[in-house]
Amino acid sequence: MITSGLLALVVAFLLLLLGDFLSTFFYHVPEHVFGKFHTLIHHGKNRNFFHYAVLTKNPLVLLDGILGALPYFVFTPWFWQISPIGTILGLALGEFHVVWRHVFVLEYPTPSLVQKICRFFFITTPEIHSQHHQNAMVAYGDIFTFFDRPARAWLKFLGSASSRTIR
Ligand SMILES: [Zn+2]
Ligand SMILES: [Zn+2]
Repeated sequence: MITSGLLALVVAFLLLLLGDFLSTFFYHVPEHVFGKFHTLIHHGKNRNFFHYAVLTKNPLVLLDGILGALPYFVFTPWFWQISPIGTILGLALGEFHVVWRHVFVLEYPTPSLVQKICRFFFITTPEIHSQHHQNAMVAYGDIFTFFDRPARAWLKFLGSASSRTIR
């Protein structure tokens, strides 16, 4: 027997997993190969982390955030039917993670215990995500680090198939 609490956790996890998968492979990586938009906004030079985060009022930055976040909402109606609490939890955790991975790396380095826990569960820390901001070839998977390897392969494939340079 599955309790509703466990079901909520499973739904929240699946929402984040599917959302990160779609966002990484169908928005983030193709955008690095074919687009300028994400690179300009998310990887611009001389910007501090506040500029990247969804906290900003700059409409272009917000748009990049919305496009990247859209995949997390695709399955919402379906998840909602299974567990509304799990759906809300998943979206809230996703939102929390966006802010956490962008805002806290400079002022507050992640405590080593939290880093260990994140490494165990393959969760992207602010330290890992900041590598992506410095080098667009590495550290994919906004939430889950196991998307990094396949995403890099996808990046290489799209890059060589279209013979575009990746920035
Ligand atoms: Zn970022
Ligand atoms: Zn990027």
